[in-house]
Amino acid sequence: MQPRKYFQIVVNVCLVVCVVVCLALVFQVPSQRQTALRFACAERMKQVVLAIHAYTELKGDVPRNSEGKASLLPLIDDRRIEPSDAKCTHGRLFVINPGLEVADVLDLDRPRSTTWLVHDEQSLHEGTYALFVRGGVILVYKVDPEEYREWLCEFSRGEREF
Ligand SMILES: [Zn+2]
Repeated sequence: MQPRKYFQIVVNVCLVVCVVVCLALVFQVPSQRQTALRFACAERMKQVVLAIHAYTELKGDVPRNSEGKASLLPLIDDRRIEPSDAKCTHGRLFVINPGLEVADVLDLDRPRSTTWLVHDEQSLHEGTYALFVRGGVILVYKVDPEEYREWLCEFSRGEREF
C-alpha cells in the first residue's frame, strides 16, 4: 500500500471515531444530567422524610394543614426544613401523602410497611421516585412510568399501600 493511501485511511478512521465519540457525548450528557437531578431530588426527599419523622415524634402527630391533611407546610413554617430542600430540583414542592398517619411515619406497627410518604412529580423527570420507611430505613421506590397516572390518583386520594 502506498504511504499516502495508508495515511488517508488512518485520517478517515480517526474522523469516524471522532464523530462517534461526539454523538455518544451529545446523547449521553442529558441523560446523565437527568440521573444526577433525580438523585439530588431523592436526597432532598430523604431530608424531608427525616423532618417529618422528627416532627411526628415531637408533636405526636404528622404535620397537617388547616384542612387536617398531611402537609409539608408546617415543616417549612417551623424552619425544620429549608424551603429549597422541600422542592424538586425543578422548583416544585414535593408531594406528601395526604393520608399519612403516625404509624406510617414512625413505623411503629408496620415493620413491613409499603406506605409511600413523599414523591416527586413524574412530569419533572423521565421517571419519578417515592420514598417510604420500612423497618426504620428510608427506601426509594421507582414508580413505573406506565402506571404513573393510576398511581398518582391513588396517592392523591391518600391511599397508603403499594
Ligand atoms: Zn425532582
